[in-house]
Amino acid sequence: MDQTDLTDEQLAAHLEDVSVPALLASCVHLGTPEQRRTILDGPLRPAGAMLNEYQGYMAPEDLAAARALALEVVTGWRARGCPTPSPLTGPELEEVMALVVAQEVGAEYVPMVLEELALDGADTRAPEPVPGAADLPVVVIGAGMSGLLAAVRLGEAGYPYVVVEKNAGVGGTWFENTYPGARVDVGSHFYCYSFEPSDHWTEYFAQQPELLAYFERVATDHGVLDHVRFGTEVLGATWDDATSTWAVHLDDGSTLTARAVISAVGLLSRPHVPDLPGAEEFAGPAFHTARWDHDVDLAGKDVVMIGAGATGFQVAPAIAETVGSLTVIQRTAQWMFPNPGYHDPVGPGARWALEHLPFYARWFRFLIMFPGTDTGLVAAQVDPAWEDQEHSVSEINDLVRTMFTEWIVSQVDGRPDLVDKVVPTYPPTGKRTLQDNGSWLRTLTRDNVELVRSGVSRLTPSGVVDSDGVEHPADVVIWATGFRANDYLAPMRVVGRSGADLRDTWGTRPRAHLGVTVPDFPNFFMLYGPGTNLASGGSIILATECETSYVMGCLALLAEGRASVEPTRAAYDAWYEKCQAELRMTVWASPHIEHNYYTNDDGEVHVLNPFRIVDYWAWTRRPDPADLVLR
Ligand code: NAP
Repeated sequence: MDQTDLTDEQLAAHLEDVSVPALLASCVHLGTPEQRRTILDGPLRPAGAMLNEYQGYMAPEDLAAARALALEVVTGWRARGCPTPSPLTGPELEEVMALVVAQEVGAEYVPMVLEELALDGADTRAPEPVPGAADLPVVVIGAGMSGLLAAVRLGEAGYPYVVVEKNAGVGGTWFENTYPGARVDVGSHFYCYSFEPSDHWTEYFAQQPELLAYFERVATDHGVLDHVRFGTEVLGATWDDATSTWAVHLDDGSTLTARAVISAVGLLSRPHVPDLPGAEEFAGPAFHTARWDHDVDLAGKDVVMIGAGATGFQVAPAIAETVGSLTVIQRTAQWMFPNPGYHDPVGPGARWALEHLPFYARWFRFLIMFPGTDTGLVAAQVDPAWEDQEHSVSEINDLVRTMFTEWIVSQVDGRPDLVDKVVPTYPPTGKRTLQDNGSWLRTLTRDNVELVRSGVSRLTPSGVVDSDGVEHPADVVIWATGFRANDYLAPMRVVGRSGADLRDTWGTRPRAHLGVTVPDFPNFFMLYGPGTNLASGGSIILATECETSYVMGCLALLAEGRASVEPTRAAYDAWYEKCQAELRMTVWASPHIEHNYYTNDDGEVHVLNPFRIVDYWAWTRRPDPADLVLR
């Protein structure tokens, strides 16, 4: 439908459904100069910004008045024939940023935000075609979120590339994790590539099928599929210093030769299933959540689910009504905070605005991005002077504890027996924090659901014995026990100049300069590599776009006629020391958290990025030659 045909009533109805902060920002673009100043200087302003709060804490009467003002602007725009407004620039743009999130956006953030939002339509992260790229074949390992991103950028720059993917399709995590209830918990309008429209999501936190379809569409639209070898696993890669090439060994017995390798194998890719006595004797079906067996009918069955982190807490509400009984054996309680709109559909008015109202979708992305990026760092810092480190690590961390506790307890009101089981003892945000609209906690109060706060000791032919020795009968066992996050690159064998296997070189301390490169492993790049996972908020897609920009910068140096690029030992060591110094002073390294995939067996953190995204963005925009050995 032509937008000029919309009646005032239809427009008004659409505006009832939208995020007012994003709407006001869009209206700054659409309005006359007078209307623009009315919005930017007027009293109808969002009062605050918080993750997943789309109305900026505005009072109902202010929301109504803002919508009325916006209707004037939008009908005026319609009367002019719905022209595409020219992008705002300069100080007015910063005024809009401040309006949307009700705070000044620091000068250091502005360039990153502008790049991320691409309000002028320019994808400035896209590489220009690189002279000499044609002589630089690249192998990408994995066609998940990171591998597809690398492929898109390699194609734009003109490098010949092959993506090797062990699965039968693209999507990585979103291909493999088909368990009931699977959905993203970073707002969908932010959890997508910066260079692809984010206007199409049907839910604010999309479910797995929609996410998988998104990655399939990106792969198709960017011509990546023709480059992918599906159903093929990379066993390892060996560097040849004489020819400055990698031999990439595939499980079909063949070898690919490449000038550079980009590993995009993900962090949460290899399931972790504890090795328990009796596992072989269990008579019924047993499967890991990332290998969900859809042929098993759970209706009426006694199901025992072992583990309940981010995955298990999504599975339980999705199957509780179907199963006969559900026993959740959860070793450690999880901290979580309320997200009332977690399962909400994107209504028709919001869909209209996202698709048709100029810049609305971009500002809505910003509204999710800004309050959700870097904010968690403050509450994660350990204050050494704070006494009760067992329960919280600082005053602000303790405040978070109070807020989270109040909400969790309110959800199990009427079941005092559950309170001790669901309120964690360790400091908040120390393990990956979950967000709930109440469905997990309500599920635990069902008559056919039991939460057992325990570990597991063994399986029997007919059930699971917990670490207190109690047997729980099971027709089906579901392992929601997570992934081997600390085993980077496993089970691949990557052999560099030294002749050593990279995983042996690392031992229990995987590391890489900026999370991307390692000395003596020339022209080998990792996306979502050691020390790049985000525990402090933000989207891993944004972080991976940063890493990809860095890799493209390194490849461009190679394309100038060099044989190899790798980090200096000094840069590599300095980065590691800097990361470790930060990480040791975060809640994630708390000795009061017994089990945590953030830590290795020695209690050290190697999987997380302790820095602000805005810093990481600045450090990865382009390689610093001083950090590199170029041959
Ligand atoms: P996880 O957070 O590592 O949780 C694993 C669960 O299994 C925990 O309850 C853990 O207990 C338990 N467990 C592990 N080994 C055990 C053992 N030997 N005995 C008893 N219990 C054991 O794994 P996940 O839930 O699959 O989540 C992993 C990550 O995937 C998340 O942190 C997140 O990054 C991502 N994810 C995201 C979403 C989303 O965006 N919505 C959804 C799912 C997953 P302990 O806590 O005691 O270790």
